[in-house]
Amino acid sequence: NDLKILEILAGQLDTSLKNAELYERATVDGLTRLYLRRYFEQKLEENLLEAHKAHQPISLLILDLDHFKHTNDTYGHQAGDAVLRILGRLLKKCVRPATDTVARYGGEEFTVILPRADAPLATKVADRIIKAVGGEEFAIGDGQTIRKTISVGIATVPPGEPESKARLIKKADYALYEAKGTGRNRMVHWSEELLQKLRRDARASARHPAVGSQPTSSAEIDSL
Ligand code: GH3
Ligand code: MG
Ligand code: MG
Repeated sequence: NDLKILEILAGQLDTSLKNAELYERATVDGLTRLYLRRYFEQKLEENLLEAHKAHQPISLLILDLDHFKHTNDTYGHQAGDAVLRILGRLLKKCVRPATDTVARYGGEEFTVILPRADAPLATKVADRIIKAVGGEEFAIGDGQTIRKTISVGIATVPPGEPESKARLIKKADYALYEAKGTGRNRMVHWSEELLQKLRRDARASARHPAVGSQPTSSAEIDSL
């Protein structure tokens, strides 16, 4: 009888382990060992709700490696992959493991959710990441190392302020775009000033649409 119970328990343990493995494969990126985009989106939704209920701030970082195409073109795709793998480890070391979520948002774009982080704390984390990436000698094989830099867009929701997942991502993304446009290897925080600047730019490009340029929709900016 005891044996029977043990057999049943062993079977259940086996199923649990297999389920955990399946869950891991569905939520974690194989190359960087960071969460995948879908998991990030679910987590952000959850964290935004919790922050609102608890009347706490929350911040989002969107990060993008600088001139990564150049790395691939110069050293090869394998070397690029090595950089991404090392970056995954580096990013995890820069955050609070129990609360923060680091994810691979796309190719060489990453996101960090910082629950309970106000603007100064988010700035501190972004600064830590920029310094860690800039100081790293990325081993790309055959004993060769290269240097990389990263740009960061930050958006913070103050306590009690309603914010949607989509809007917060857009704000951080515009801030990242601004960090790229103003020199890279730096961070930009979403702000009222940046919103005004985007509005001016959108109006100007509506009057003088440049050939081949990506038109920034005024409607989209007005929704922020
Ligand atoms: P910027 O500083 O403006 O971000 O320039 P960039 O070259 O980093 O930007 P761009 O978006 O032009 O290039 C991104 C490159 O990232 C292009 C793509 O081939 C590469 N990439 C995306 N995913 C992977 C990947 O999984 N492995 C490797 N090796 N490269 C990748
Ligand atoms: Mg990119
Ligand atoms: Mg890039």
